[in-house]
Amino acid sequence: MIDSGHPGDADMIEKKLADEGIIPAEIKLLILTHGHMDHTGTAEYFKNKYQTPIAMNPIDCTILEIKSRGLMGAVIKYLSEKELHQSLRIQPDIHLVHGQRLDQFGLPAQIIALPGHTRGSLGILLDDGNLFAGDMFMNFLKPSLAHIYENEEALKKSWEGLKTYPITTVYVGHGKPFPFGKMR
Ligand SMILES: [Zn+2]
Repeated sequence: MIDSGHPGDADMIEKKLADEGIIPAEIKLLILTHGHMDHTGTAEYFKNKYQTPIAMNPIDCTILEIKSRGLMGAVIKYLSEKELHQSLRIQPDIHLVHGQRLDQFGLPAQIIALPGHTRGSLGILLDDGNLFAGDMFMNFLKPSLAHIYENEEALKKSWEGLKTYPITTVYVGHGKPFPFGKMR
């Protein structure tokens, strides 16, 4: 499972899992793309109820700062800053690092470090070219780099780095999936 919604989303997530025929106790790993509370909100719940191991970059257990660009960034920051600054109450079981393979958890994929949106942001690149990018990109009106971030320079560097990978489709935390070529 990749990311876990807002605090209070547990019922909705459990229902969606049931709809897909997935038994929560059989989830081998909960990967958190970064430490923002709208992605980590039910991690503690899943760990407590189903003993789901949590994997992430532990540097994101604390979010230091949130900067923004543009009007949309200012609005997102205004609406979400309080929630996004909450620290995780649990420690991850597995510390993910760049290049790490996920085959042992049943996923033919690798971890790509994507610092910028947060210091510990990471992507999950499946061998078939699908990239789960967390909040590095968003797709509201059109695909774009994150409008809020801890480090904009790092965010741009992470994007440059991604261009060296054979990525087809990007799945984002906010908005619909889009072809990676649309970001070029
Ligand atoms: Zn975020």
